[in-house]
Amino acid sequence: RAKESGRGQVLFYEPVMDEKIERRRQLGAAMNGALERNEFHLLFQPIFCLTSGDIASCEALLRWDSPQFGAVAPGEFIPIAEENGLIVPIGGWVLHQACQVASGWASTATIAVNLSPVQLRTPELAVTVVSALQASGLPAKRLTLEVTETVLLDDVERSLAALTTLNQIDVCTTLDDFGTGYSSLSYLTQFPFQTLKIDRSFVMDLEHNPASIAIVQTIVELAAKLGMRTVAEGVETPAQLDQLRRTRCDAVQGYLLAKPMPANEVLALFTAACPATKSLGQGHSLPE
Ligand code: C2E
Ligand code: MG
Ligand code: MG
Ligand code: MG
Repeated sequence: RAKESGRGQVLFYEPVMDEKIERRRQLGAAMNGALERNEFHLLFQPIFCLTSGDIASCEALLRWDSPQFGAVAPGEFIPIAEENGLIVPIGGWVLHQACQVASGWASTATIAVNLSPVQLRTPELAVTVVSALQASGLPAKRLTLEVTETVLLDDVERSLAALTTLNQIDVCTTLDDFGTGYSSLSYLTQFPFQTLKIDRSFVMDLEHNPASIAIVQTIVELAAKLGMRTVAEGVETPAQLDQLRRTRCDAVQGYLLAKPMPANEVLALFTAACPATKSLGQGHSLPE
């Protein structure tokens, strides 16, 4: 017994570490062939224009339903896919699928697709993007690619080249989760982004922390001066929405307005909002 309790301290943390590593390994193994077995699907979350109330865009959000593990959150499986390289084929599938879905909308709303740093550094990115556009018939200007700022740090030259190429073929780029990580204002002038997405952490704080109001205000003003649009993510309360209106943010996204939904539900949203009702301001729009 004494011997066992002596090892007790080691056992106290070791199995937890082992479990994490083991789950990661198992998820990685389960991910092999998951694409071919159709275990992935996309949900779409509307982004509303604050002035018109119309759906300006929808963000494609990847979901994995593993027969073995059930629903696995992107926050858990995407880092694994980035490590084992599967994010490249999976991300390619996301691009094709998202463009296909958006091409069916009775709307000019754009489709926003998240891009992994690994994809951004892949030489075939532009080819994949062009092929997704051509296969779906979606005009390039209706596709927006979201990248987080941490991506840019790793390889400035390569990131800049990739983003410039995308812009040259008319695809828009968004700086996602702005204000987290290693934000440097110089990125804003260095990299070609059309849109800045203000991180949820600032939006969450808007009601209680005057400093967050100042920060959001400053981001919006700066973006406007640099000719960029702003989107606030993670809007959950009417008070946050009010504050973002006062701040003159361009667009908003969050559970308060719409949750991520399956493709057929988004399609219905656009079909229901026929042009006649829309011009009367009665289409599918933002709650006042
Ligand atoms: P993100 O790009 O910042 O996406 C926004 C996340 O916030 C989504 O989480 C969305 O469901 C969630 N969200 C939206 N509104 C609210 C709200 O009002 N409150 C709260 N608490 N959350 C809200 P999700 O779908 O779990 O995705 C997490 C992250 O995984 C994404 O963050 C993105 O970085 C990554 N991701 C998702 N799909 C893809 C993909 O196809 N490719 C790549 N590379 N990454 C993806
Ligand atoms: Mg995003
Ligand atoms: Mg985001
Ligand atoms: Mg985020």
